[in-house]
Amino acid sequence: MVLNVFDGFPLAEYFISLRTLKNTMVLDLVKYTKELSKHLFEADNILLVCHVNPDGDAIGSQLALYHYLISKGKKTSMISPNYLQEFLKWMEGSEEIHIFIKERKVCKELIYKADLVIMLDFNQSGRLGDAEEYILKSKAKKVIIDHHVTLNNFADLIISDPSRCSTSELLHELLTVINNGVFLHKAYSEAIYVGIITDTGNFEHGSFTGNTFRLIADLIETGIDKNRVFNQIFNNFSADRMRLQGYSLNERMVVIPEYHAAYIFLTRADLSKYNYKKGDTEGFVNLPLSINGIDFSTLLIEKEGYIKLSFRSKGDFSVNEFAESYFSGGGHLNAAGGEYYDSLENTIKYFLEMLKNEAWKIRSGF
Ligand code: 5GP
Ligand code: MN
Repeated sequence: MVLNVFDGFPLAEYFISLRTLKNTMVLDLVKYTKELSKHLFEADNILLVCHVNPDGDAIGSQLALYHYLISKGKKTSMISPNYLQEFLKWMEGSEEIHIFIKERKVCKELIYKADLVIMLDFNQSGRLGDAEEYILKSKAKKVIIDHHVTLNNFADLIISDPSRCSTSELLHELLTVINNGVFLHKAYSEAIYVGIITDTGNFEHGSFTGNTFRLIADLIETGIDKNRVFNQIFNNFSADRMRLQGYSLNERMVVIPEYHAAYIFLTRADLSKYNYKKGDTEGFVNLPLSINGIDFSTLLIEKEGYIKLSFRSKGDFSVNEFAESYFSGGGHLNAAGGEYYDSLENTIKYFLEMLKNEAWKIRSGF
């Protein structure tokens, strides 16, 4: 059975209802929690999987669900398709996450043994990286919990709501119903909190609502040290990383005022000059948006064999559509990403052509 928030809604109508009734609860929590609890109850061996290059929301929701299930006596394990970013490694339970590209044998065994796989914070199977083929062919029941826009169906149960600011917010609501009240557990609350503050840039952007703040109140009352968590996430940089940020803005940022756009590009040599560690460029893409009149920002990073792109916007220019149309990617209205398999030079050329086509959609003044 496939259940998702789109049940009974033609897609276009659903989005209209979301836009006009901003912040309206469209998800029938009772229906979804019933389905989810049934899956959890029936499973003996649960595997939690986050997306490739996991961000704070992916790891936050994965760890929160892990702490919950372990405390209820469920045999639970975790896989990430690739390595965790440095600034997330302090989180309780993160050392229990098996890295697919490093521990292939262990991970394949975990996938083989699982009778329930829960995937968090993504809805395209390509986001499983090298683990994709093994998870897709596994006989386990599959559940997706997510808040991205595009809906790809490769699971038995999809709980997805783009009006939630983060998968962590949605997960906390589901678990609060299943648990018959807030689950009181510090590491759980910290993990949910990390998911929310990373996906909203500490309440700077994204679709957080009054609901989010009511839920934050629950978390704070479980005794989390919100200042410590904030410092671990946002004030945890190396000097090299700060210098790379300065360099990116000084030497690698191109502003195109007539398109209300700006982009930053970084070569592999740039990264190695500043001793790049995974996660060091997190947040760079947001910086040009603080320039007056700039409403679309792009970060291009040269990787081995391809270019990784991150997109951010202010207002109603859909970077999700831009990423999907031109860079095999996806994401949200104001935050998305994609990839392009060519040299940095050719990718910038192609990006600028696509930008020229789409620039009329970018409005300034947000
Ligand atoms: P970021 O730019 O921080 O890597 O990602 C921003 C948003 O876009 C996140 O919600 C992330 O899941 C999504 N995203 C980033 N890269 C990709 C990609 O290559 N494919 C898809 N489908 N989504 C992406
Ligand atoms: Mn997320």
